[in-house]
Amino acid sequence: MSREERFNAAMERQQAAVRECIAQASDERSLIVLLTGDGKGKTSSGFGMVFRALGYGQKVAVVQFIKGTQPSGEEIFLRERFPEIPFYQMGTGFTWDTQNFVADQAAARRTWEQALKLLQRDDLDLLLLDELTYMLAYKFLDEDEVLTALRERAPQLSVIVTGRGGGTALRELADTVSEVKNHKHAFDAGIKARKGVDY
Ligand code: ATP
Ligand code: MG
Repeated sequence: MSREERFNAAMERQQAAVRECIAQASDERSLIVLLTGDGKGKTSSGFGMVFRALGYGQKVAVVQFIKGTQPSGEEIFLRERFPEIPFYQMGTGFTWDTQNFVADQAAARRTWEQALKLLQRDDLDLLLLDELTYMLAYKFLDEDEVLTALRERAPQLSVIVTGRGGGTALRELADTVSEVKNHKHAFDAGIKARKGVDY
């Protein structure tokens, strides 16, 4: 067999295997995707799916459980070009620095109330809950309440959750779980966070 024939035969086998897998995936329903791990790429992957969904004309919403003093590129883009898209941030009142548990929990709670409403909407296709895992880790939100709301969401709605950790119950509930592993990060070599790459 020539190199070309071997290549073509291998491709045919691969194609048959892929077709077999596709044929076996017969369920069709909305998904929970968890993007976790200590490497860079969780939030940006989440927004990648948001933009992917927008490409098909789907309806999306974003809730970011971050302090948000400076708007990220994704936020600027969506707020300016798609002002109709629901976009909530924990924003002011959330103080990583001052260790004010009561104020932080209240801010998390207010933001979660927005997420709760979005989780029930029957006209949304995709909801990004960015950095939600930290709200569970810090016990700002009740894990049972969050998991129940995710489980009992509007049936057509897929949800992306990002952030390190998140706990085993969330991992079990999610349909797709990806862990981004940190091999190295430019920051550790003293390189400043880069506009358009890091934020
Ligand atoms: P991104 O928003 O780039 O997808 P992320 O959501 O995976 O990153 P976060 O933990 O939310 O990561 O942190 C966001 C910021 O922190 C980004 O500027 C990112 O480059 C930086 N960052 C992420 N992982 C690391 C790391 N392992 N070491 C240093 N900085 C990191
Ligand atoms: Mg992130």
